Amino acid sequence: MELDVDGVAERVSTGTLPGWDDVEALVQKAHERNAGVTSGTVADYIPALAAADPALFGVCVAEVDGATHGAGDVDHAFSIQSISKAFVYALVCDELGHELALERVGVNNTGLAFNSVMAIELNDGHPMNPMVNAGALATTALVPGQTSEARWAFIQDGLSRFAGRRLELDAAVYESETETNQRNQAIARLLQSYGRITADPAEVVDVYTRQCSLLVTARDLAVMGATLADGGVNPVTGERVVSAHVCRDTLSVMAASGLYERSGEWLFEIGMPGKSGVAGGLVAIAPGKAGIGTFSPPLDAAGNSVRGQRATAFLSRSLGLNLFSSDVHHPAEGQDR
Ligand code: GLN
Repeated sequence: MELDVDGVAERVSTGTLPGWDDVEALVQKAHERNAGVTSGTVADYIPALAAADPALFGVCVAEVDGATHGAGDVDHAFSIQSISKAFVYALVCDELGHELALERVGVNNTGLAFNSVMAIELNDGHPMNPMVNAGALATTALVPGQTSEARWAFIQDGLSRFAGRRLELDAAVYESETETNQRNQAIARLLQSYGRITADPAEVVDVYTRQCSLLVTARDLAVMGATLADGGVNPVTGERVVSAHVCRDTLSVMAASGLYERSGEWLFEIGMPGKSGVAGGLVAIAPGKAGIGTFSPPLDAAGNSVRGQRATAFLSRSLGLNLFSSDVHHPAEGQDR
């Protein structure tokens, strides 16, 4: 796309959250209203995930001033899974730049499941976007480093900076997924056959499986999201993790495809960039305002947390986070409309 934006100074346009007390009360309410919901199914295609307690439920909002509001199981650790895709993409964009990331990985929705092979075939081997497995594998393949250990260190350090604390691997989940991830191995091989991955596909899948096995909490997800909401600076540690442009790019891809084939519905109802993971995590971002992190293992058919979506929808409405909402303009006294 040829656009007239070169050298244009960028202005941003975001509002503010209601006061601390209101946010606190609404986070408690988001939890309370959805704690009794029991629909959805815990993922079991990675055997180690099947043991998750379906009753666990946490909701957390991290504001861009560093304040956090939590309700329920906000400090329970679970594997980040696909949510890692968004943050690894941000780190890779920060290294590669806008154009190269656009060309190598892409930003368009596939309309198909997260682990679709058909999506690759339908698009001449193009991975399409970084939020599905093909694009995430292509993104991980672009991580800088001479060895897979160095590439893994880059990812673990980077995601830890987003969270503001050292994130550790869940060895049981990593081993369980390693034994059962033949489909991801096939996707990586297919991308290699199209010349889309030049690194060793087995190593790429291994690093990707490790990144998916990093342990986070709903509170971590909220802070990671708040970092993307805060122009790339972690609001709790004050550390810059990525540039403001990279946040904008990452959030746009999350809006387009963060909830897979349900991304359109999600945007229609909730109106915020978001990313889900198969262990039950969900992150949503209100640019300039806050990150929302939720955790609840039961998933809908597309692999998105049922209670996480419900709680985020409630917060989007009640905190005024839908990016597409507006009010009628009321002219000031004596002013024409
Ligand atoms: N590690 C998982 C996979 O690649 C992540 C999928 C997900 O969270 N949707 O299959």
